Amino acid sequence: MEAYERLLNYVTILTPSDENSQTIPSSGCQFDLARVLEKEMKELGLTDVYLDDKCYLYGKLPATEGYESCPSIGFIAHMDTVSDFCDHQIRPILTGNYSGEALDLGNSGLVLDPNVFPHLSSLKGRTLITLDGTTILGADDKAGIAEILTMAEHLINEEIPHGPISVAFTPDEEIGSGAEYFDIDRFGAQFAYTLDGDTEGEIQFENFHACKADFEITGFNVHPGSSKDTMINACLVAMEINAALPSMETPRNTEDYEGFYHLIDMNGDVSHATLHYIVRDHDKGLFEAKKQTLRLIEKNMNEKWGEGCVSLTITDQYQNMAEIIKDCPHLIENAKKACENAGVTPLVLPIRGGTDGCQLSFRGLPCPNLGTGGHAYHGPYEHISVEGMDKCVDVIIELIKIYSAKF
Ligand SMILES: [Zn+2]
Repeated sequence: MEAYERLLNYVTILTPSDENSQTIPSSGCQFDLARVLEKEMKELGLTDVYLDDKCYLYGKLPATEGYESCPSIGFIAHMDTVSDFCDHQIRPILTGNYSGEALDLGNSGLVLDPNVFPHLSSLKGRTLITLDGTTILGADDKAGIAEILTMAEHLINEEIPHGPISVAFTPDEEIGSGAEYFDIDRFGAQFAYTLDGDTEGEIQFENFHACKADFEITGFNVHPGSSKDTMINACLVAMEINAALPSMETPRNTEDYEGFYHLIDMNGDVSHATLHYIVRDHDKGLFEAKKQTLRLIEKNMNEKWGEGCVSLTITDQYQNMAEIIKDCPHLIENAKKACENAGVTPLVLPIRGGTDGCQLSFRGLPCPNLGTGGHAYHGPYEHISVEGMDKCVDVIIELIKIYSAKF
């Protein structure tokens, strides 16, 4: 089966994770996909296939005879999708021999436009998989799953010799807890790659340092007619806090290695207000400086409006995995070589986010991220090409060949 055919099967099973849920996994529907994959893995001939009660699915391809001493490498993808644009059936649309020009997304009025997505012209001539403009596709990260299992099928059917290979599919990546209950011992690989990036050829091992910053503002509410020099309007203090942040350091104004403060939610009335930010930077020093700026704002606001008016809570989320990956440079060098062997241009790019691999790297499983061929994730413009997926399968097969020959 081709990778895209698998993808088309998987996207019919909706698997949004739910950040407001207290259960593990956060949504029961992820088990629906996990059970389909469990069956498929067994049918393909993977061994040690195991779905645990938290919806982590593991499997192995034991080494070919004589290749047992090769390093054991793993491949990981996530089964959940974002919950946005995911409330009804997903209907993928295949466009053969894509023109590279603007493409209507069903009757939604949305247009996939090369002016907005300049890479589209590079997909000219390919078979493009899009939507009708009302849902996500879910190629993030079902394309990764499809490519990993297609790789396994190729290795088995074409009898390509290989070292020990581990495979795992995880829940709840989109809500940031995909690696939390990952059983590294059961997985059994020395190092791994997540397939959870965009363009084919992407190799990513530098992600953000990340924290949340939550401001709580307590105002002083008195009748507005007689409040001179007494009222403290929590909403106005909140606006003052935001105005004290560097106005250019937002997601809209930054790229590559530039960090940001991102106001994700605000709420309030005269008596009480909250501001919720996420803070990101690749550089540890700049990241700490951002936290320091936030603390300085808290201090100054309390000096101005009275102690206790503003309280800031900073919660660390994840760290830049480059710190770990720098000690195993072969992971990146071999991935580059695998791309070249597969006729794909390697693109070493910083991740402007985090991945499951970053947490796993810090837990002892070094785990960079590879592209899946998809684009414009998390919204109705999401798309992927059949050829891009095939290339990603070729890349991981080449990667396996390198690790099976070198050691
Ligand atoms: Zn993803």
